[in-house]
Amino acid sequence: MITRRALLGPLVLGPGLAARFVLPAGATAPPPPPRGAPPLVVLDPGHGGKDPGAIGVSGTYEKHVALAAAEELRRQLAAGGRYRVALTRGHDVFIPLEGRVAIAEQQGAALFISMHADALSDRSVRGASVYTLAAAASDAQTAALARRENAADRFAGPEFRNTPPAVAKILASLVRQETRAGSARLAHRMVGSFAGDVPLLDNPARHAGFVVLKAADIPSVLVEMGFMSNPGDEAALRQAAHRAEVAAAMRRAIDAWFAQAAPTAPGPRLAG
Ligand SMILES: [Zn+2]
Repeated sequence: MITRRALLGPLVLGPGLAARFVLPAGATAPPPPPRGAPPLVVLDPGHGGKDPGAIGVSGTYEKHVALAAAEELRRQLAAGGRYRVALTRGHDVFIPLEGRVAIAEQQGAALFISMHADALSDRSVRGASVYTLAAAASDAQTAALARRENAADRFAGPEFRNTPPAVAKILASLVRQETRAGSARLAHRMVGSFAGDVPLLDNPARHAGFVVLKAADIPSVLVEMGFMSNPGDEAALRQAAHRAEVAAAMRRAIDAWFAQAAPTAPGPRLAG
């Protein structure tokens, strides 16, 4: 039996500011990791529960594809032994978008990767693409995608519908330069890693105001592994072998990201 747990102020909002989020049903709240523990990668399978996400031309639900791909990526990352890996949802449960961010913040994630396979109105469009947060969308297609993605919270209860505007504004504006640079670097690595192995959308590195990417201090990307609206992408993503290829490309990008990151362990802080 899963209980709902109150989560007080895990989001870093700056001095004196704290947002209150409820840790969603289905989420786990482990004790803080020991010092020196490997970095935590949080994978976020999109949608779930009452929110199916996009429904493919032959009836595949995005939420099932997203979870299957995230479980495969978790398996691959865990096999390397270099990271701890957590999923925002390990089964078919609804989690509001800000609850997903709260899970990553609360668990001290080093990276946050949201995994999707949404639908576009143009069924001929196919291929993987990678999204980072920006106030303005890179193009009209991405703006529409972000609108649909952010609309997942229409399924949420009133406590999530009514994020105070001031808090929402702070969340939107507090994305630090450092976080943005880390996100951009990960997006770049992802695209490079997909190239050659996984079909890519034109201009595959895009940006828009995705709510799920608004963690203030965790480099975050949203990966569209393909589009449910395209019969070729849908058929491919139904195959475990194809999901394993997508996951392998993502794992290589994650490995490269951590390899490039400067050692982050803070030394003792010296006065003066
Ligand atoms: Zn989605």
